[in-house]
Amino acid sequence: MSLGRLALTAGAAAAAVQAAPLLTFLPTLKPATPGLNGRGRPGHLALTFDDGPDPDSTPRFLDRLASRDVRATFFLLGVMAERSPDLTRRLRDEGHEVAVHSWDHTNHLRLLPGRRTRDQLARTTDLLEAQTGVRPRLFRPPYGALTAAGLAAARGLGLRTVLWTAWGKDWTRTCTPTSVLSQVTAGVLDGGTVLLHDSDCTSEPGSWRATYGALPLLLDWCAERGLAVGPVADHGLAAR
Ligand SMILES: [Zn+2]
Repeated sequence: MSLGRLALTAGAAAAAVQAAPLLTFLPTLKPATPGLNGRGRPGHLALTFDDGPDPDSTPRFLDRLASRDVRATFFLLGVMAERSPDLTRRLRDEGHEVAVHSWDHTNHLRLLPGRRTRDQLARTTDLLEAQTGVRPRLFRPPYGALTAAGLAAARGLGLRTVLWTAWGKDWTRTCTPTSVLSQVTAGVLDGGTVLLHDSDCTSEPGSWRATYGALPLLLDWCAERGLAVGPVADHGLAAR
């Protein structure tokens, strides 16, 4: 079992629904929140990782990204960052963007009243700022569960909410590097945002290995098509 594994009350169920952002919200939110879905400038792919930092897996991702001279955005969990401050600082030192995913991955649809959602975000934002000296600018809700409380809390903390246009479905027991690549490339990549996971703390144990194997395949795929890969900070999202 991963050292960083979270004690989720319904881990398997959580992994099963680790999935669709609540797209039904998007049509009404879209006009007020440009860039919410992660659509940025053409020719650029924003590479993002959720659920770390995890001492069992994140260092390997960082080594692999460094070997390809690629930087990404990491949406961190406060509870994981609290356990691994050296990893959070390493992210910063190696030029990656540190962003907020929540404190403990509780689904915001279950976090009532709104004050608890705000507390999760504020606690994580403050911790990451204390660890890195840089105030995070981005937020992605666990499970992509957009709620009014979550959006308002993020706005109040100066965080921009960003979802994704493609994902690897890399949280399952059966995923492989090639399955992750084919899932990702089925989404919008040119001008899009890719969601992957550098930790299995909310997923099936060991699932990060498929993502780790898929990473060079994805980088090759982008290089062959002339797609630049970088963090959300370089993605040219429209002004809010
Ligand atoms: Zn997550």
